[in-house]
Amino acid sequence: MSGGDEPEGLGESTRLTRAGRRPEWTGRVVNTPVWRGSTHLYASDAERRRAGGRDHDGQFFYGRRGAPTQWSLAEALTKIEPGAAGTVLYPSGVAAIAGCLLAVLSPGDRLLMSDNAYDPSRSMATGLLARMGVETRFFDPLDLAAYAALVGEFRPQAVWLESPGSLTMEVCDVPELAAVARKHEAVSIIDNTWASPLGFAALEHGCDIAMMSLSKHVGGHSDVMMGSASAGDAFYAKLRRTAQELGQVVSPDDAALAARGLRTMKVRLEASTKSAARIAEWLADQPQVERVLCPLLPDDPGHALYRRDFTGGCGLFSFILASDDMKAAGRVVDALSLFGIGYSWGGYESLALPITPHVHRTVMPSPTQAPGSGGGTRPAIRLSIGLEDSEDLIADLARGLAQLDTE
Ligand SMILES: *Cc1c(COP(=O)(O)O)cnc(C)c1O
Repeated sequence: MSGGDEPEGLGESTRLTRAGRRPEWTGRVVNTPVWRGSTHLYASDAERRRAGGRDHDGQFFYGRRGAPTQWSLAEALTKIEPGAAGTVLYPSGVAAIAGCLLAVLSPGDRLLMSDNAYDPSRSMATGLLARMGVETRFFDPLDLAAYAALVGEFRPQAVWLESPGSLTMEVCDVPELAAVARKHEAVSIIDNTWASPLGFAALEHGCDIAMMSLSKHVGGHSDVMMGSASAGDAFYAKLRRTAQELGQVVSPDDAALAARGLRTMKVRLEASTKSAARIAEWLADQPQVERVLCPLLPDDPGHALYRRDFTGGCGLFSFILASDDMKAAGRVVDALSLFGIGYSWGGYESLALPITPHVHRTVMPSPTQAPGSGGGTRPAIRLSIGLEDSEDLIADLARGLAQLDTE
């Protein structure tokens, strides 16, 4: 079962069940056990000196460099990311974002960040990176001409992408954006949490580094925080060195939970994508809904690129209410009984969250803003569709939306 003995041409589902399960790590059980240990005991001083000199993955040295439980998960993530030479694990998705940016940027450098990036990514750019002397400009990832001009003029060392965009779900032309970055010798990094490598092969589509919050689909059960970044040889080496310098390590218990989630990720994603498409279609027909923001829908502006570049989706999308009252979103989610109200997503249980994407945009308009100056904003809700029966979720949403009719 070790990497080298693997039969050629296995399908993705099969690889997902086998990846990272080396016999030297699993022993006689199916999953790599939770290997707790900070200290490794050497048989002799000569062995200690040999181990210390070799800074290899999969080589026990000291707990901060991980042990079989973490190596097994990292190797599995590498094997499902086409084009990756290695994967670094971080204690959260946000730590992974920091790990990627700090690995490629130095004081005096410039970063371009997609305007619809996850808000903590923006905050890291305007906070930590600004303090380090890195200048960030935000760009509209749907305006390719303006982006190309900006890359030429601003000369960034790195470009940060996320597709679909956070909260508002715009799919952008990642291969084109990454190609322009590469032409100008900028590193392209993508937050690929929404699709995961099962839905979007980021490195094969031209990105240099693919990061994910494993707290979402990989964990899948809302009980673990973790992040990852995968890359080809050159960038993997940088990511790994920076993570070691920062002392990043994940607990073996959490790594075992994430690895367990990973085995079922494909079937969970397929089920929640199917259910989400159904629910999004139903929402689009409701009089209380102004617009559904979901690239799974055939008439969504991002659907053509979704069809071209993605091999799968997930259960996360948003919708805008046909109301001027910003408190309406709170009333709808309060009236739901099957949806939890909470941050995060990608778990087996459905969640609903009132959102205000316009407060996080500085370049591109948010679809929650009425066009024209002085236009008002609309209340909106993000749904993470889990594994419940979609009929039950639709009935729950119907009850929630009915709240708006009784005012
Ligand atoms: C949740 C999330 C993160 C951060 O992950 P944590 O594990 O919560 O730190 C990063 N990017 C996206 C798109 C996310 O949704």
